[in-house]
Amino acid sequence: MSFPHIDLAANAHDRAGVRRYDEQWLADTWADPSSRVLVISGTRLRPIDGRVEWVRTADVPAGRRILLGERNGVTWWACLVDPVDAPGERGEWIGLRQAMMGSMAGVFEDSPLVFHAVGLAEWHHAHRHCPRCGAQLEVRAAGHELVCVGCGKAQFPRTDPAVIMTVTHGEPGSPDEVCLLGRQASWPTGRYSTLAGFVEPGETLEDAVRREVWEEAGVRVGPVDYFGNQPWPFPASLMLGLVGRAEARELDVDHDELEDARWFTRAELRAGAADGSIVVPSGISISSALVQSWLGEPLAGTW
Ligand SMILES: [Zn+2]
Repeated sequence: MSFPHIDLAANAHDRAGVRRYDEQWLADTWADPSSRVLVISGTRLRPIDGRVEWVRTADVPAGRRILLGERNGVTWWACLVDPVDAPGERGEWIGLRQAMMGSMAGVFEDSPLVFHAVGLAEWHHAHRHCPRCGAQLEVRAAGHELVCVGCGKAQFPRTDPAVIMTVTHGEPGSPDEVCLLGRQASWPTGRYSTLAGFVEPGETLEDAVRREVWEEAGVRVGPVDYFGNQPWPFPASLMLGLVGRAEARELDVDHDELEDARWFTRAELRAGAADGSIVVPSGISISSALVQSWLGEPLAGTW
């Protein structure tokens, strides 16, 4: 495994942005039997035989068509259907988080397409009227623009930046070097993860890291380096991974935010993971990539 390795950032499609206003191309492509569509009820997916099901356009109920783009010679779409018009039983439709927790087949392999589709579904779901005058909205750009029929204001999909970070202290690479992780009260015993928080208006990523770590753990952070990023459409986040260097090890944990925050050496993390007393993030999350990158090796995690 090479670092940084962020699974959900891999295998992107061509978003074919220049095609979004080409009505003839959109109509021809929709009519092409090789095109595939992810039907979304509100913001929910329906697994078919346990996997994300991409269907032919001929099999899609009436709804709002979203062009996702092209990959492997196929044109990919989403179709947003009102929950009352969605086929099947209401309980058959599940949220993306549930699909990911259950490792539904096709979610991780096609995550850029699925995240693009669900992210836009979340945006359409939350933007029913013009924020300026309250009038109706008209869909343009194959689902990527909403224009007010009253005042003409155009809206575009939003992405909310959030920082997620390892914070370290001590001689880099030495046995004494430590990494700061925290836990929330609602988590199972022993679970620790990287600190995180939303970037505020007018704030740089580095200052967001310094502010969040100071607010949550009472630790001053100096230099901050960029690590990598990962889309996280719950409902519209982009997780920006960073690594901060702390100026000191004193902690002053804000217990409204965190139940606990602690410094861990690499040996403590390895031993805790091995005997199960410490559970760190695993799998596809960028927090897992951050922790394992600092550790320098994969670490057994169970969540
Ligand atoms: Zn308006």
